[in-house]
Amino acid sequence: MQYYSLKHQAPSVDFRAATIAGQAPDGGLYFPESIPKFSPELLRTLKTLPKAELALQVMQPYVGDTIPTAELARICAETVDFPFPVVPVTEQIAALELFHGPTLAFKDVGARFMSRCLGYFSRHQTRRVTVLVATSGDTGGAVANGFLGVEGVEVVILYPSGKVSPVQERQLTALGQNIRALEVQGDFDDCQQLVKQAFTDSAVTSHLTLTSANSINVARWLPQQLYYLYAWQQWQHPEPPVVAVPSGNFGNLCAGLLAYVSGLPVRHFVAACNANDAVATYLRTGDFTARAAVATLSNAMDVGNPSNFTRILELFAQNHTTISQLIHGCSVSDQTTSATIEQVYQQTGYLLDPHGAVAFQALSEFLQTRPEQHGLFLETAHPVKFPEVVEPLIGQAIALPDSVHALMQQPKRSTLLKPRYEALREYLLSS
Ligand SMILES: *Cc1c(COP(=O)(O)O)cnc(C)c1O
Repeated sequence: MQYYSLKHQAPSVDFRAATIAGQAPDGGLYFPESIPKFSPELLRTLKTLPKAELALQVMQPYVGDTIPTAELARICAETVDFPFPVVPVTEQIAALELFHGPTLAFKDVGARFMSRCLGYFSRHQTRRVTVLVATSGDTGGAVANGFLGVEGVEVVILYPSGKVSPVQERQLTALGQNIRALEVQGDFDDCQQLVKQAFTDSAVTSHLTLTSANSINVARWLPQQLYYLYAWQQWQHPEPPVVAVPSGNFGNLCAGLLAYVSGLPVRHFVAACNANDAVATYLRTGDFTARAAVATLSNAMDVGNPSNFTRILELFAQNHTTISQLIHGCSVSDQTTSATIEQVYQQTGYLLDPHGAVAFQALSEFLQTRPEQHGLFLETAHPVKFPEVVEPLIGQAIALPDSVHALMQQPKRSTLLKPRYEALREYLLSS
């Protein structure tokens, strides 16, 4: 499989080169030159295939011969080594719970897959690869955890001091091994700026093999389609599901669309957004206007100019009619998000996180006029990650899962860093 740049000013590359580079040199996102169709055999046996075997069959055509099958089988098995249960919430709606991975967020799957691919690609290099990332909280935890113990890879992660939640901070600082946390005395923008500068500093890039592990990397994006297949394996109704996806950068939804184009039965997609509704507006009107992001309760979806929107357009040849017939867009306010968490908990006992709540609400609105249909929404994070939002709404504390409880007992290890590039430079050159 070859990947071309959506800006069309860079050569096509294989999966290995696309994974190592992250972004094409012309600044475009990489896109597969063809979308493989699931074979009739795969579709027939889909419901009974073990998770890891299914992952291997789906990922193999995208990876091509850049990773031998036995290695890829191991990578897939390690990536999906936790449950993805479909849990009924109401008569019409079920949750696809994607928060049973090590950092309690759905980004674990993409991060684990990418880290293991990079680990494989750097295995025969004499120099270790250094992954340099800035995080505002969630993504960094999944990336750090994904790379934990992966041979040949060092991770240096920058986060804003005092601006991540206690659970998130432990997920960044308590891992040890090949993961080092730099606690920056500034905000997230400072962290991002420092990282950007390091990538353009030839003294640093000749000293270390740097890579970025960012969210548009094909090795993080492509494996997300597995969620939709695992949901289908557990789907009990005769008609395919309506699937609602809480969306920010639209990587997750776009991966679901890939599975659909490959042959997975889905009745309709619902793109569930918070106040950052550029794509929802596009679906309604055909006009796309990027805006500055606004802060909401579902903060992992606070994206004003979603990078994967161009991938969605590409997948359907820029055809607004096709796209808007398949995907229904919906924007949910913070007020409605809070009310949804409260009501769903009172009426069903199911506790939503703010991101899942946006998707649940968008799905219920969609199904209201379609009483004979059934749907599922992707519950992308565990509510315990957002206690300051959720606990006041339900009037009680959320119990920490055992894995988090154990992590909270570990000592925090971080290096304080002034928000000045010289400080980061010195740190990197001395490592
Ligand atoms: C990243 C994230 C999202 C948004 O996913 P995209 O692929 O960026 O659309 C939704 N919920 C949670 C909890 C996230 O961390």
